[in-house]
Amino acid sequence: MSKTAFLTKDKAEEIAKRWPTPFHIYDEKGIRDNARAVKEAFAWNPGFREYFAVKATPNPFIMQLMNEFDFGFDCSSDAELVLADAVLPSESEYNDGSLPGGGRGGRIMFSSNETPAAEYERAARLGAIINLDDITHIDFLEKIIGPAFPETMSCRFNPGGTFTMSNGIMDNPGDSKYGMTREQLFEAFRRLKDHGVKHFGIHAFLASNTVTNDYYPVLASRLFDLAVSAHRELGIHIAFINLSGGVGIPYRPDAEPNDIYAIGEGVRREYERVLIPEGMGDTAIYAEMGRFMLAPYGALVTRAVHEKHIYKEYIGVDACAANLMRPAMYGAYHHITVLGKEGAPADHIYDVVGSLCENNDKFAIDRQLPEIEKGDLIYIHDTGAHGFSMGYNYNGRLLSAELLLKEDGTVQEIRRAQTLRDYFATFDGTPYGEKLLDCISR
Ligand SMILES: *Cc1c(COP(=O)(O)O)cnc(C)c1O
Repeated sequence: MSKTAFLTKDKAEEIAKRWPTPFHIYDEKGIRDNARAVKEAFAWNPGFREYFAVKATPNPFIMQLMNEFDFGFDCSSDAELVLADAVLPSESEYNDGSLPGGGRGGRIMFSSNETPAAEYERAARLGAIINLDDITHIDFLEKIIGPAFPETMSCRFNPGGTFTMSNGIMDNPGDSKYGMTREQLFEAFRRLKDHGVKHFGIHAFLASNTVTNDYYPVLASRLFDLAVSAHRELGIHIAFINLSGGVGIPYRPDAEPNDIYAIGEGVRREYERVLIPEGMGDTAIYAEMGRFMLAPYGALVTRAVHEKHIYKEYIGVDACAANLMRPAMYGAYHHITVLGKEGAPADHIYDVVGSLCENNDKFAIDRQLPEIEKGDLIYIHDTGAHGFSMGYNYNGRLLSAELLLKEDGTVQEIRRAQTLRDYFATFDGTPYGEKLLDCISR
């Protein structure tokens, strides 16, 4: 079983002449085709909107592609709100009919937790839909924006216990810090009503990286039941159900990918079973997918620079966990293609490792791969989401460039590589600010 790289060796070598390895590269065509499929899969729901989870790939050039599909942005920090503000078209374009209506702020979902006051302030200023993580945030928000709340608001639900589906336990909401209990959720809705809220949303994120077409439909059916109860007991208008993220991708080559059309149909089935008979057919379905929107359409390209033969066989590459943290942090599998050796037998076993002074800095452990020679380009798959964005600077390692492979085959730099000047920039104003910069060029 194998996965296909969206770059050939020749193309990658050509790119590496201008942008030295390591670099993250994204496939514009793959991103567009997938976004189109997501839109089609939920077209049965007129209010459907995907709010791209900005934390997955916080790059305005990538976010701009989401604008083409009239998607919105799921933000949970000040930086993410600023990115959404920078990328969304102007308010007037939504109001003068040149873009679909509904207002600019409605394209921003603020699904934060442990939120600083200044971030609620910015979210409110942008007219974002605020999704409260906790009932105590109602008072917190009142202190910031006063007693008159926006007309549309949302609350995050945590059912507790374990989240199980027919094929077993998917995740453990009872252990997760997010969301409100059912009692708190209903109480929050009552109190929000007193603050003038007229349209309510329900949000839940109960399992991560699910590789099954059933996760969204099962989650939807539970949230639809909850929506019906809230509607009946409180007499409130449930404007949307936010299924959030969690739709996964097959990191391993032998895993079956999700079928977004089957997922959309599964949600429709539950919608027609639960909401339609209640006269709630104007409820919009929202999603906040990050991984599913981007992960397969990004790769980390790095070069083998060392080989080492001790108790195991090691290949040292010029990227490290600072460029892609998932293997070190979660033991996550990322498939590897040795570019130019796609057809060669995988008859060697290697640990493919980065340069951090930290023994978990391994992109692959005991991986069967073709023989790797120094200078070979190593293509690490599925880094388009939660890849570059989780980057850090341990050991003073720098973040790579981000590149976009356009549909016409050209390559655009969408973020330059970090430099030592960037790394030392926050010593400015101290006696070491200038000195460090001088030492760089010594
Ligand atoms: C991380 C996150 C997402 C995106 O999750 P994916 O698994 O990347 O789809 C969506 N919503 C919220 C609130 C999140 O924290």
